Amino acid sequence: MPEVYIIDVTNRDGVQTSRIGLAKLEKTLINMYLNEMGVFQSEFGFPFTLHETNYINANLELAEKGTLAPIRLEGWCRAIQKDVDLAYKLCPKIKHLNLSISTSPLMLELKFQGKMTIETVIKSMIKAVEAAKAHGAASIGVNAEDASRTGIEDLIKFGAVAKAAGAARIRYCDTLGADDPLTIYARMKELASKTKIDWEMHCHNDLGMGVACSVEGARGIIEGGQDAYINTTINGVGERAGNADLLSVLVALKYSSGFKDKKMFPKGIKLDKIWAFAKYASYAFGIPLSVNQVGVGANAFAHESGIHADGALKNRKNYELYEFEELGRGEPELVDTGRMITVGEYSGIKGFMNVLGKLEVEFKNDKEAADVLELVRYANVHTQKPLTREELIFIAKYPDQARKILTVIPPQT
Ligand SMILES: [Zn+2]
Repeated sequence: MPEVYIIDVTNRDGVQTSRIGLAKLEKTLINMYLNEMGVFQSEFGFPFTLHETNYINANLELAEKGTLAPIRLEGWCRAIQKDVDLAYKLCPKIKHLNLSISTSPLMLELKFQGKMTIETVIKSMIKAVEAAKAHGAASIGVNAEDASRTGIEDLIKFGAVAKAAGAARIRYCDTLGADDPLTIYARMKELASKTKIDWEMHCHNDLGMGVACSVEGARGIIEGGQDAYINTTINGVGERAGNADLLSVLVALKYSSGFKDKKMFPKGIKLDKIWAFAKYASYAFGIPLSVNQVGVGANAFAHESGIHADGALKNRKNYELYEFEELGRGEPELVDTGRMITVGEYSGIKGFMNVLGKLEVEFKNDKEAADVLELVRYANVHTQKPLTREELIFIAKYPDQARKILTVIPPQT
């Protein structure tokens, strides 16, 4: 049976969202969490964008070292040769790319102002795929932006041509979250069976159906005989009303009535990392988890009304579909309420050693400690909030990559 894989797009769709963003160190930590969870691929940035270059190259080094492995790190480009060439000039070791171009008549008319047709879109896409292949890309995905408002015949043509050009799969972008689960299921089944290529679901939540469309679309792809890839973001962050939430997609594939046989649950996923991951992402983005957030909200396992509390106490199965322990929840959290030493951009060595000692980080000598402190100061210049335990440990463990990630130099004009 074909399989389902997760491609998380937090570090691309999530960070391009209006009024929210991440420092490059935080993007790196997101990749680390995704890798720990067993996610197949992270769309980790824009390799043709100058301020991403050091972050991307440092993360590729971490992949080479085996730290960011087995996760695949994939960069997003427009499906134009210029982007691909620049991506390889700036990030020569990038192995995986997704190339995106609009396919809907509406966008061809209103965005390209009638200057592009589906035929010229396809030509541009082929040139971009061929350029990526010539540069040595190991896998190429092709994104049909606004696929949900594109005719099925055009998508079949787009998919078949992309496959012939050497693409590994096609991303069906429900860019505006316009589809519904039944429609997307039928379309994906037809697309998968007629093109015989793997498809990716990329669903937004403008109508509140991003997760439902993702899992039903994936079902259509599987029934059409191909592997299905689902795009997610941590905590559902993303353009406008957001993308399909990573945890919601995973619990839907495990616990909803139509997926209970778990045949579509992605292999190798560890759900017990999600609690720490969701909290970190909330802190890094500066967006509190909503009280009713799936699985990780404060009320996800809370009961108060008489009938519910009584039922949950008698047996949790009365009012809980899955167990909080499975998500890594349940441990009490200790918070210092007295004297506290934090580290930041103006910290000195004594306070720094105090904090690092509590994290059980040891240095070979004073020079190594001073070097890491300097990096920690720079990290705080970037994040402008107290560094987390994981961030401090990352910097102490991978100082060379941390230095590169924290180096952002605007080009000379
Ligand atoms: Zn999107």
